[in-house]
Amino acid sequence: MPFEEKFHLRIPGPTPVPLRVQHAMNRPMIGHRSAECSRLVQKCSQRLQSVFGTRENVLIIAGSGTSALEAAVANTVAPGEEAVVVVTGAFGDRFAKIADRFGARVHRLDIPWGEACSPDALKSFLLSRPRVKAVFLTHCETSTGVLNPVRDLAQIVREHSDALVIVDGVSSVGGVPCEMDAWGIDIFVTGSQKALMLPPGLAFVAVGPRARKVIRQAEAPRFYLDLQAYQEQLEKETTPFTPAIAHLFGLEAALDMLDEEGLENVFARHRLMMEMTRAGIRALGLPLLAEDAVASPTVTAVRGTETIDATALQKELRRIGVVVASGQQHLKGKIFRIGHMGYCDPLDVLTLLSATETALHRLGKPVRWGAAVAAAEEVWSRV
Ligand SMILES: *Cc1c(COP(=O)(O)O)cnc(C)c1O
Repeated sequence: MPFEEKFHLRIPGPTPVPLRVQHAMNRPMIGHRSAECSRLVQKCSQRLQSVFGTRENVLIIAGSGTSALEAAVANTVAPGEEAVVVVTGAFGDRFAKIADRFGARVHRLDIPWGEACSPDALKSFLLSRPRVKAVFLTHCETSTGVLNPVRDLAQIVREHSDALVIVDGVSSVGGVPCEMDAWGIDIFVTGSQKALMLPPGLAFVAVGPRARKVIRQAEAPRFYLDLQAYQEQLEKETTPFTPAIAHLFGLEAALDMLDEEGLENVFARHRLMMEMTRAGIRALGLPLLAEDAVASPTVTAVRGTETIDATALQKELRRIGVVVASGQQHLKGKIFRIGHMGYCDPLDVLTLLSATETALHRLGKPVRWGAAVAAAEEVWSRV
């Protein structure tokens, strides 16, 4: 295949890595206990605070996003203790499975996939479960493209229980506004390979004061993911184990890029890409899984129809050079997902939509040429 390296990675993570970040990662290795590395760890941790919207410590773990989810569970809920997990898709389901594996008594609040959890639903669920130690939420549910109203959900938890509020922000932090402190989130986690424009390999855990106390007293067995150790070592400007140093070089460059664009502009770009994607997909007559009010700025899930098979369309797109993601669990074969986060801009959305028109045509479907692109351009013209 010609141009084997030239393709458009439009899955909701891993996302494309800017050249500037890749180059930064190529710097010569340094010692993990050197003064230079200490500065790097300290700076990265401190600079991450703004993307989480917190003044609390952001702990850095070498691991994929799931390592941060596991750390959040293992350090807060002891075996036999009760936890509520709000499940709006595959990643909420993962949080529930981790909590279950660690011996928690898990109360799942299952919401139909494609919908967000409403504050009222969480409120009545919580009121009948007074002994809950932690409530686990997913901010952007990447499997459905739904952004849960985490601010309102956290407020409900705060008003009606003493439980910690623990949020998976893997596909939201860095792409949508996050206000950990103002929203009352106790633990907020993310990973490197989504909106933060890095390769997979880093996990970040922001820990508030109520969670710090629980972590200090936690009894569940843990070693690599003992957040107390990360907390203590961060105070000494280091990490308990060798950090992923090349990734930290890259993280500095990625944070520089976010600073230069300005976080407000970064968030506006993500919203614009979401609106362009949705307008374009609608113009092709393809249904969207999530409604506008709960749609995520970082990922869009598109349904197949009676005549258009989601998997066939995904495969045709791949032949053209555009990589999108399939559905997960029971949505496999029913939807495909478009990632528009991180190192991605409106032109990338136009390319994707143009390719989708061509893919539909190649599948023998009637296409009004340019319809999707025009709809997206119209949205873009309004900013
Ligand atoms: C990608 C993702 C994860 C973590 O996945 P890893 O493969 O472990 O990095 C967790 N939660 C959400 C919402 C995600 O999008």
